[in-house]
Amino acid sequence: MVIAQINTSEINFREAINELREEKNALILSHNYQIPEIQDLADVVGDSLNLSLQALKSDKDLIVFCGVNFMAETASILAPNKKVVIPDLKAGCSLADTINVQQLREWKDKHPDTVVISYINTSAAIKAESDYCCTSSNAVKVVEEIPLNKEILFLPDLFLGAYIENMTGRKMHIWPGECHVHAKLTANEINTMKNDLPDADFLVHPECGCVSNIMYELSEGNIKNDNTKILSTDGMIKYANQSNAKEFVVATETGILHQLQKQNPEKKFHPVKDDAVCEYMKMITLEKLYRSINEEIYEVKVPEEIAKRAIKPITRMINIV
Ligand code: SF4
Repeated sequence: MVIAQINTSEINFREAINELREEKNALILSHNYQIPEIQDLADVVGDSLNLSLQALKSDKDLIVFCGVNFMAETASILAPNKKVVIPDLKAGCSLADTINVQQLREWKDKHPDTVVISYINTSAAIKAESDYCCTSSNAVKVVEEIPLNKEILFLPDLFLGAYIENMTGRKMHIWPGECHVHAKLTANEINTMKNDLPDADFLVHPECGCVSNIMYELSEGNIKNDNTKILSTDGMIKYANQSNAKEFVVATETGILHQLQKQNPEKKFHPVKDDAVCEYMKMITLEKLYRSINEEIYEVKVPEEIAKRAIKPITRMINIV
C-alpha cells in the first residue's frame, strides 16, 4: 500500500480521526489513563479487561487500542479475527517487564507441581505459561479456587500478592515485581491527605498495578479505612454521582480524574499525587492516533501457538467474577 505524504501540521486531527473511524470501520478504545484528548475521542473508555472484552464483542474491522502493549495483546488474543493496532509500540509497562518467559520457566522448575497465577499486567508469552490470569478485582477469588494442597506461584506484582495473602490467609510464592508508579503513592501521603480533607471520600481504582500497594497498605491497616471505596471505573463514576460528598481523593494514576470530573463537574476530585503519572500511557497523542488509524499501524498480533495457550488462563479469569 502506498501511503500519501501528509503534512500533519495542517491536519485537524479530531475531524480527520472521526472521518477515518467511519471509513475504516474502526473502534477506538482508550484506557482510563490516556490523555484527555484521546479519552474524549474514544468509542469506549475503560480498564484493560473491559476494553479487551469490547474488542471481542465489536463488529468493527479495525480495533485501535490506546493503552499499553499487554492490553492490545489481550484484545488480539480474545478477538483473533480482528486487526488490532496500537498507536505507539513503545507504550510498555514496567510491571509486565519485570518477568520474562525464561525467568518464569526457571521459577517453575524450582517449584514443580505448582499453580501459576499471573496478573493481567503480563505479556501474552507469560500468560501462555500460566494456569490462571487475574485482575486485582478478582485476584482473591481466583486464589480461593485453587485447592488448598496446591502451592501457588503468583506474579508479577509483589503488593497485589501480599494483599491476597492478607485477604486469604494463604501463603504463596510471590514474584518481586512492581510498577514504578507505585513508589509515588505511599501510605503516609494518603493519611496526610485524608487528614487535610476529612469530609472527602477516598476512591481506589484497582485495575492497574499502580494502586496494588495501597490495597496492601489498607489490608495491613496502615491507611485509615474510613470513607474508603475500592471501585472499578464505572463503580467510581456511579459512586461519585450518588455520594453526598463534595470532594474526593482519588488514588490511582491521574488520568482517571478526567472522566470523574467530566461526569461530575460540580464536585472536586484530588489526585493523591499530581505526579502519579504513567509515562507509557501518555505516549499516545492525537497525531499518533491519526497515523495509527490512517496507516493501520502498529499491528499487534500474538503468534497463534502462544495465543492458543494464553486464551485458557484468560478465559478462566473472565469466568471468575
Ligand atoms: S501504571 Fe504501572 S502497571 Fe499500569 S501500565 Fe503504567 S507501568 Fe504498567
